[in-house]
Formats: sequence, C-alpha cells, structure tokens
Amino acid sequence: MVDENCIFCKIANGSIPSATVYEDDQFRAILDMGPASKGHTLILPKAHFKDVCDLEEPYASKVLPLGGRIGRAMKKALGCSGFNLVQNNGTSAGQTVFHFHMHVIPRYDGEAPIVTWNPGKVEPEELEETASQIYAEL
Ligand code: 5GP
Ligand code: ZN
Repeated sequence: MVDENCIFCKIANGSIPSATVYEDDQFRAILDMGPASKGHTLILPKAHFKDVCDLEEPYASKVLPLGGRIGRAMKKALGCSGFNLVQNNGTSAGQTVFHFHMHVIPRYDGEAPIVTWNPGKVEPEELEETASQIYAEL
C-alpha cells in the first residue's frame, strides 16, 4: 500500500516533514512547495495509488468531501472567495508526481482564473459519436 520510492508516500506518512493543513488515518493535506496561490494545498492519501483510476475505497469517497471542507476553511482563514479542485491524471494532463493527489487552490478576488481553456467548435454528430465511444467502454 506504500511505495518506498514515492516521495508523496513519505510525505503523507510523515517520514518527510511538510506544512500539514490536515491529517487523519487516511489522508494528509500539505501546502504545495510551488504554490499557484497562497494556501495551495495537496490532499495526499496515505496509501499509494498512481492516479484516480487506481484510487480505492475509502479514499475515493472521502477525498472530494475533504476538498470541500478544506476549501471552506480556506475561505474563512485566508479570505479567498473561491477555490479550484484540480486533479491531474497522466503526463499529458500535467501530472508530475505519480501518487494520487488533489489540489485545492484558493482563488482571490481580482486575480485571473487559472483553470481555463479555449472553447473549441464541434458538430452535433461528432458529439454523438464521441459520446457513444466513451459510453461503450464504461
Ligand atoms: P501534479 O502536476 O502532479 O498534479 O502536481 C504535483 C504538485 O506537487 C506540484 O504542484 C508541485 O509543486 C508539488 N510538489 C512536488 N514535490 C513536492 C514536495 O516534495 N513537497 C511539496 N510540498 N510539494 C511538492
Ligand atoms: Zn506514493
């Protein structure tokens, strides 16, 4: 359940010190060392899962409520007006540490949104075809 070569396993289980925001039997939430904004937090399960496709219970059902709880606390403690929950899976998606983690990134009034994309154009037929391709694998 723990990978001895994984830095986030070491941080989550306390063998490498970190600025800890929250801890329980299953999770440690720490401040990111390269924060996108003040208070940028990473929620780490104490067991090793590569990404969300591997994530098991009880972690899977607990991580999203914990993100909401930490975000709510950030609003009170830091005065942010919103927060992003970001969770990258795979190199192409920007994942750089291959131990599941969820980012909780405080957002402050007057700052530009950071999770953005340029909306593309697509025909309805292509939407239908793409939807059925995904559906077939579920
Ligand atoms: P990813 O791109 O994989 O979703 O995010 C990895 C995040 O982990 C990055 O935001 C990076 O700054 C953070 N990070 C990587 N190594 C460490 C570390 O040793 N300590 C802390 N606190 N954050 C780390
Ligand atoms: Zn790990």
